[in-house]
Amino acid sequence: MITSTIHLAETILKNNGIIGFPTETVYGLAGSAFSDKAIHTIFQLKNRPHNNPLIVHIGSVHQLEGIVREIPPKANVLINQFWPGPLTLLLKKSSRISDLVTAGQDTVAIRMPSHPLALELLNSIDFPLVAPSANPYQSISPTMPKHVDSYFGAKIPLILDGGPCNKGIESTIVGFEGDQVIVYRLGAITLEDLESCVGTLLENNKSHEKIKSPGMAKKHYSPKTPLLCSSFIRNDIQKYVSKKIAVVYFDELDDLESNEGIDYYSFQGDLQHASANLYGLLHDLDSRNYDLIIIEKFPDLDLGKTLNDRLERASFKD
Ligand code: AMP
Ligand code: MG
Repeated sequence: MITSTIHLAETILKNNGIIGFPTETVYGLAGSAFSDKAIHTIFQLKNRPHNNPLIVHIGSVHQLEGIVREIPPKANVLINQFWPGPLTLLLKKSSRISDLVTAGQDTVAIRMPSHPLALELLNSIDFPLVAPSANPYQSISPTMPKHVDSYFGAKIPLILDGGPCNKGIESTIVGFEGDQVIVYRLGAITLEDLESCVGTLLENNKSHEKIKSPGMAKKHYSPKTPLLCSSFIRNDIQKYVSKKIAVVYFDELDDLESNEGIDYYSFQGDLQHASANLYGLLHDLDSRNYDLIIIEKFPDLDLGKTLNDRLERASFKD
């Protein structure tokens, strides 16, 4: 069932069930963060490895009290600036948060989403929600109810319809060590935004990443169609000109190779627009039997850095 009222969703969640849940980043598969049964179901539905921890979603800052042990000063600054919104904080967990949520780590990932329906739901129940993206492990994140429906259909009783996600890309994840803010995942809040708020950031290095953010797999967000992230788009179009290809470019391309086998899509030089629509476009292209999708690398700034990170993982071959 796809509905835009929260009534039935509340009942399902209170009974340890799972729903499709809209946020401004991507759709989540949500269940009570205090229910082991709900948490197990989420891992099972997604086929997600248990070493990949879940993000806890809250509807008000007061809810932090029961679930974290301390809030570093810079975390407070970030909360005031970016919540509700697409910023996830890694904070020391209290015993109220089970090891199933954090994959045995001492920190829990928490955010307050800004989507009005998500907030309404979170504030109508008296427990937080865990809500990883509503897609099977490693596939493209959903940004519309129909994506969730095509992945899970009758396996979940309800999808809460909040329309298309306006950010369309996952949250940025940061943690804290002493006075340092460490970035674990690029996301919808840019590094530039964070820096202007808390100064210099530390970017997570790979060995660190293994310990702290085990879910940051090299392969992720992947369509079934082969995907090439291209820095030299004209050359790559030439290379594959005999195939049926979709070419997605960021801005304008002059003198396009016109060929029956090639379809062109553009983000019109707008990073916000690209962020809001990249996953939706990938879902769409993936259903059209192309031999190859070629996407032009984004400019390496602001949201472009996040989008390039996703393209790198989406096109990773194992
Ligand atoms: P998502 O699948 O978008 O809900 O994001 C979950 C990701 O957040 C995980 O794959 C981890 O990379 C990161 N994460 C969640 N909880 C933690 C945690 N307790 N410590 C470190 N990283 C976390
Ligand atoms: Mg995900």
